[in-house]
Amino acid sequence: MLLHFLNHGYICMKTRIEKDLPMLKEIEMLDALFKHATEGIIVSDKKGIIIMVNPIAEKLFGYEKDELVGSVIETLIPKRYTGNHASTREKYAENPHPRSMGIGMDLYALRKDGSEFSVEISLSNFKTSAGDFIMSFIIDITERKIQDVEIKKAHEEIRNLNIELENRVEERTEELAQAINKLAVSKQELMRALEKEKELNELKSRFVTTASHEFRTPLATILSSVSLISKYNLTEEADKRFKHINRIKSSVNNLTEILNDFLSLSRFEEGGIRNNPQEINIVKFSNDISDEMKAMLKDGQTIVYKHNGSDPVIKMDKQLLKNIFINLLSNAIKYSLEGKEILFTTDNEISGNIRITIKDNGIGIPESDQPLLFERFFRAQNAGNIQGTGLGLNIVKKYVELLEGEISFVSKLNIGTTFVVIIPIKNN
Ligand code: ATP
Ligand code: MG
Repeated sequence: MLLHFLNHGYICMKTRIEKDLPMLKEIEMLDALFKHATEGIIVSDKKGIIIMVNPIAEKLFGYEKDELVGSVIETLIPKRYTGNHASTREKYAENPHPRSMGIGMDLYALRKDGSEFSVEISLSNFKTSAGDFIMSFIIDITERKIQDVEIKKAHEEIRNLNIELENRVEERTEELAQAINKLAVSKQELMRALEKEKELNELKSRFVTTASHEFRTPLATILSSVSLISKYNLTEEADKRFKHINRIKSSVNNLTEILNDFLSLSRFEEGGIRNNPQEINIVKFSNDISDEMKAMLKDGQTIVYKHNGSDPVIKMDKQLLKNIFINLLSNAIKYSLEGKEILFTTDNEISGNIRITIKDNGIGIPESDQPLLFERFFRAQNAGNIQGTGLGLNIVKKYVELLEGEISFVSKLNIGTTFVVIIPIKNN
């Protein structure tokens, strides 16, 4: 049979080789090719009946050659595929051509002992005078498949490791960025704290210089008044004694005011001053402060207080408001000459606000000094030897801001100055 197939199947090649080699040798060579091929080779007819099997195919399927020859090819295919296979085989037989089988599919073959194994099959066909034949070349790819699975698994593991690594790098980068951010923030806070500390120290040392200078005048006054009082022993000199006692009182007030200014400012800088609203009868409150300020008035000076509005009760921080009033009124007194009138008005007619106006007929503020008036330690050129540290208005402005209000002024040299403070009531 083999001789028959070889004779017909390779007729063309045989004709060519015939010229060079004796026929027997050629047949032996083809037989050896069939027997020693590394692939399993099965030859079947158009109906799928196995005609020939090479030794590798016998070994692959676990059959003896004689057991297979004459059986249908589906014997070697797992039962679940046989139906399909038969119809595909018939179609192939109608139009046979060399091709791989089941491209993209996992193919399985069935051994005699019922076990299955993965295969790769390619098909070819040939014609002889005995009819049409189909040749199947079969390779056992079990090992390759196992390796494929292993490779796939290894790839998957590498992929997962990569993803994990990337995630970890991302996490660490994020953590690092956060740490750097935190560091930058603390650095900024530290710088700010240092800056504040520096400012406060500057303020303190500047104040010490200013205050020690400002302390000299009232202390000298006190000293001279005290020594004069001790000389006025006579009863009729009571007036003179009284005048000096008043000068001492006013000098002490002056010293207290300077110290208060400084304490306010450093407390403010250290964040120790808060807005703590309480109910105030603004009329009573303003009258009390006006009375307190009377001790400071120069000869013939008066404070005229007036309130516009119906309900005098408002909610506001007493300490902050008192400080604002005292500073503005003391300026009005200090920077006005004897006999001048000071108009002090509170007004809560404008809904939601309280407006405070302090108008004097004093020395006024030179226009060129006006933009700097709220700066720390700033004093106008015409302040001359009128006592002051230049801190009062700076504190007033800070307090007004703490009460969420606004302060403004208009001033004309040698005519007078009017300060206006507007503070929202509901917010306090
Ligand atoms: P302190 O109030 O700290 O004792 P001071 O009165 O000099 O000192 P501020 O109250 O801050 O300081 O005022 C700053 C400057 O503004 C004053 O030195 C003065 O030149 C000018 N000034 C303030 N109020 C008036 C006013 N009503 N009339 C004229 N000048 C004023
Ligand atoms: Mg002042």
